[in-house]
Amino acid sequence: MPIGVVLPRDADDVAAALGVCREHEAPILARGGGTSLAGQCCNVAVVLDFSKYMNRIVSIDPERRLAVVEPGVVLDRLQEAARPYGLAFGPDPATHAFCTVGGMIGNDACGVHSLVAGRTSQSVEELEILTYRGIRTRVAAGGEGLPPELRDRLLGLREGVADLVRSRYPRIPRRVSGYSLDELLPERGFHVARALVGSEGTCAVLLGARVRLEPSPRSRALVVAGYPEICLAADASPLALEHGPIGLEALDGAIVEGIRGRARAAAPALLPGGHAWLLVEFGGDTDAEASERARTLIAALGRRPDAPATRLFEDPAEQRRIWEIRESAVGLSARAPNGRDRLGGWEDAAVPPERLGDYLRDFTSLLEGFGYTGVLYGHFGEGCVHTRLDFDLASAPGIAAYRRFVEAAADLVVSYGGSLSGEHGDGQARAELLPRMFGEELVAAFREFKTIWDPDGKLNPGKVVDPLRLDEQLRLGAGYASARPRTHFPFAEDDGSFGRAVLRCVGAGKCRKTDTGTMCPSYMVTRDELHSTRGRARLLFEMLKGDQLRGGWHDRHVREALELCLSCKSCKSECPAGVDMAAYKAEFLSHYYARRPRPPQQYAVGLIFRWARLASRAPRLANRVARLAKTGVGVAPQRELPAFAPETFRTWFARRPPPAAAAGERVLLWPDTFTNYFAPERGRAAVTALEAAGFRVEIPSRVLCCGRPLYDCGMLSTAKRQLRRVVSELREEIRAGTTVVGLEPSCTAVFRDELPALFPHDEDSRRLSAQTLSFAELLATRSWEPPQLGGRAIVHGHCHQKALWGMDADVTVLSALGLEVELLDSGCCGMAGGFGFQRDHLDLSIACGERVLLPAVRAAPADTLVVADGFSCCEQVEQTTRRRCLHTAEVVAHAFEQPPYDLARVL
Ligand SMILES: Cc1cc2nc3c(=O)[nH]c(=O)nc-3n(C[C@H](O)[C@H](O)[C@H](O)COP(=O)(O)OP(=O)(O)OC[C@H]3O[C@@H](n4cnc5c(N)ncnc54)[C@H](O)[C@@H]3O)c2cc1C
Ligand code: SF4
Ligand code: SF4
Repeated sequence: MPIGVVLPRDADDVAAALGVCREHEAPILARGGGTSLAGQCCNVAVVLDFSKYMNRIVSIDPERRLAVVEPGVVLDRLQEAARPYGLAFGPDPATHAFCTVGGMIGNDACGVHSLVAGRTSQSVEELEILTYRGIRTRVAAGGEGLPPELRDRLLGLREGVADLVRSRYPRIPRRVSGYSLDELLPERGFHVARALVGSEGTCAVLLGARVRLEPSPRSRALVVAGYPEICLAADASPLALEHGPIGLEALDGAIVEGIRGRARAAAPALLPGGHAWLLVEFGGDTDAEASERARTLIAALGRRPDAPATRLFEDPAEQRRIWEIRESAVGLSARAPNGRDRLGGWEDAAVPPERLGDYLRDFTSLLEGFGYTGVLYGHFGEGCVHTRLDFDLASAPGIAAYRRFVEAAADLVVSYGGSLSGEHGDGQARAELLPRMFGEELVAAFREFKTIWDPDGKLNPGKVVDPLRLDEQLRLGAGYASARPRTHFPFAEDDGSFGRAVLRCVGAGKCRKTDTGTMCPSYMVTRDELHSTRGRARLLFEMLKGDQLRGGWHDRHVREALELCLSCKSCKSECPAGVDMAAYKAEFLSHYYARRPRPPQQYAVGLIFRWARLASRAPRLANRVARLAKTGVGVAPQRELPAFAPETFRTWFARRPPPAAAAGERVLLWPDTFTNYFAPERGRAAVTALEAAGFRVEIPSRVLCCGRPLYDCGMLSTAKRQLRRVVSELREEIRAGTTVVGLEPSCTAVFRDELPALFPHDEDSRRLSAQTLSFAELLATRSWEPPQLGGRAIVHGHCHQKALWGMDADVTVLSALGLEVELLDSGCCGMAGGFGFQRDHLDLSIACGERVLLPAVRAAPADTLVVADGFSCCEQVEQTTRRRCLHTAEVVAHAFEQPPYDLARVL
C-alpha cells in the first residue's frame, strides 16, 4: 500500500514532491502504467504516477529520427505520432497499448521485434533525470552533462569492475537482470543514460527522454508453424532465425486452451494443427517481398523430418488476431483448467537461443520434479521463455517449495549461460538471486552504482540491490484466508467464491488501454486508476482482505470506485483474465444497500418496469409527472427523459389484424420494458420484418420483464424473483425449444449471461439462455430473401452485445440489404441504461460518447443510416446529435416496405 500518490503535471511538480519527501525522509516510487511483473512497481513509498499528466510527446525530429518524450507517454501514442514519418520506436512489449516509455526505460523493456530493435537501452540517447538529493541533469553517452563528482565516481566504479563485467555478463541478447554496468565500458562509449536504463526506478527519477526512432517495415507476413510440443518448436527456432525474421515467438497449447470457449476471444481456430506454435514474422518493402520470405521458410520447414503444419497469414487483420492471442497470454493463462491460479514469480529467464530446446527439456524435468504445471511461451528467437506456473503461495510449505524451485531454476539458467530475467526485470522476485548469476563482487558493484546515484537509498528501496526476500510481502502469503462471503451470484466458475473471483485480476493493465475496444470506458475518460477495472478489482480484494479497507460490504472507498463503472460487461470479454466487474458491482451494491436506503434514482431506474406499467394507463399524464420529478430523481437537467409511448407495443400487437398464416418458423418475440413502453416502433418493425421474412411471431401472453436495470443497482433479490417468474411463465415454450428473439441487447444479455450465472444448475434457465437469439442473429442464421435497400450505414454495437455475442450477425444482415456497413470502434456510448441520465454522471457519459461515436455520427453524410440496437445508445445519439438512430429491425422493416421511409432524417 503506497504512503500516498502524486500525479505530477511537470518536472517542477516532481521536484516539489521530492523536496517534501526529502524533508520527511520518505521513499519514492516512480511509476508509469504499473504493468511490471517482478514487484518493482509496488512499494511502501510515495508513488509518483507519471501516466496521467506527464505524458507529452515534446518533439519528433524525422530527419534525425529522434523523439523527445515525457516519461508517462504510452508507447502506442508515440508510435502513432511517429507513423506518418514511416518511423517507429523499436522495442514493443506486449503491453504497448498501455505501458509507458518511462516504464520501458525503467525495465529495459523489449518485445516481439527485439530481434531487430533490441532492448529499450539500445534506443535511448539521452535522459533527463532528478536524483533524490535534487540533482537535475541530463545524461548521455560519454558522461556528458554529468556533475564532475558523479562522473568521477562512475569512472572509478568502471575502473574496478570492467574486466569482471566483460567476463561475467552473459553474451546473450536478452540480458535484462542486474544493472547495465556494461554500458559504462569504454567500448560502449561510457553511455551513462543507457546504464540507467533497466534500473527500475532505484537510481533516479526520469523526467524526460530523447529516444531513437527506426524505419518500420511497410509490409509484414506471418508464418505460424504447429508442433506436437514446445521443445520441438524451440528446436526449429535456429532454422527460422536463418531466414531473417523480424519476430520469432512461441505459444503452447495451454494458452490456446485458455481462450477456446471464451465468447469474444481472438480466434484459436486460425492456428494450424499442433499443441505448440512458432510465430515467425517477416518484413518487407512490399507485400510480395514479405510473403516471399515467409514462403521460403515454409518450404525449408517442410523439408525437415519433423515438418510442422504451417499457415501463412498475409491479411493484417488476421495477423492482428494471432498477435492478440500472444499479447494476452499472461491473462489468458492465469487460471488452469483445474481451477488453480497460475502465477508469475519465475517467468522470463533467457538462455542462448541455440541452446533453447535443451534448456526447455531440462526445465520441464525440473517442473515435473516439483509437480508444477503451467504454460510456456515467449520470444524464442532470443531464447527468452515465459512461464506461468501453479505455485502455491498461500501456505508455508507451498512458499518454501516455491523458494527451492526458483533457486534451482536460477542455477539451471546460469548453467546455460543465461539471464534470470530476459525481459521483465529483477524487482523483488529475482533480485535476491542475482549473486547466483553475477557473483558477489558484481553485486557489490551494483550496490555501489546505486549508492552513487541514491546515497540515501530512498528510491524504490528493496528492489534490485539489498532486496527484500523473494518470498516476503507476497500478495497472498501464508496468512491469506480466502474470503467466501454469502453472495447472490454463485460464481460457479470461481469455485463458488467471490474471493476467488476478485483474484482473477493479474494486474496486467489491459483495462488501461484507451484507443480501441470498449474496456474500460470510465478509465478511457478519467485516466484514473480508481476508475479502471484493475483499480476496482484491487479495492474489492483489499475489502475482502480487510486489513487496509475495513468497511467490508459497506466500505465507501469501494463504493466510490464502483460509482463510475458503467456495468458495460466489456471487461468480461476484453480482460484476458475474464474479470466480470459488472457482476461484482451488482453483488457489492446488493450488500452495500442491504440495510440502508438507496438514493431515489435507484428506485426510479431499478424498478422502471413497475413505473412503466403504471404509466401505460395514462402515458400523457405520466410524462408530465416524470418531467416534474426529473430533478428529484437525480436526472441531469440537460437530459430529456424518454417519453412513455401513447400505445404500448403489447397493446398494438393485441389489436392488430391477424397476419396471413405464415408457414414459417414460430418465434417468441421478447417485448422488453424499453421496447414495450418507450419505443414500440422498434417492436412493430421487428414484427413487420420477421413476418415479411416468413416467421410466425408471437409474444408472451403475460407482461414480463427480465429485470435488466435491477442489476445496475444491485437489486439482486428482486432480479432473481423476476427471472424465476420469466422462466416459470415461459416453461412450455422453453421446453418446446421455441426461439426467443430479443430486440434490446441488454435484455437479451440477461438471458444469455445473468440467467445461467444466477441459476447454473437449473435446466430450463440454461435452455432459455441457449434458445435466446438477437433479432439479427435469427435472420443471419435462417434462410430468407433480403430485400435490397442500398446506401450506407454506420453501426454502433451495444457494450453487452459486443461482450457476449458480437456484431457479426448485425453486419451480415445489414450487408444483405445491400448496405455498405461501417462498424464503428466506438466503445461505450456512455449512456449505459440509466447511468448517463444521472446528473453526477453526465460529464463522463458525454465524454464517453464524444470519444468516437458522436463525432462519427455528426460526420456521417445526411443519407447515411445510423444504426444502434441499444435503446440507451440511441437516446445518447439522438439527444446529443439530433440524428435519428435506428434499430436493425427498423432498417429491415423499411427495406421490406416499398418505397422506404427517409430513414436518415434529422430529428
Ligand atoms: C501482460 C504483460 C505482458 C508483458 N509483456 C512484456 C513484453 O513483451 N516485454 C517487456 O519488456 N515487458 C513486458 N511486460 C512488463 C511491462 O509491461 C513492461 O516492462 C513495461 O514496459 C512497463 O511499463 P509501465 O509503464 O507499466 O511501467 P511500470 O510498471 O509503472 O514501471 C516499470 C519500472 O520503471 C520505473 N519507472 C517508471 N517510470 C519511471 C520514471 N519516470 N522514473 C524512474 N523510474 C520509472 C518503475 O519504478 C518500475 O521499476 C509485460 C507485462 C504484462 C502484464
Ligand atoms: S482487470 Fe483484467 S485487464 Fe485489467 S489489469 Fe486486471 S487482468 Fe488486466
Ligand atoms: S463493466 Fe465496463 S465500466 Fe465496469 S469495470 Fe468493466 S469495463 Fe469498466
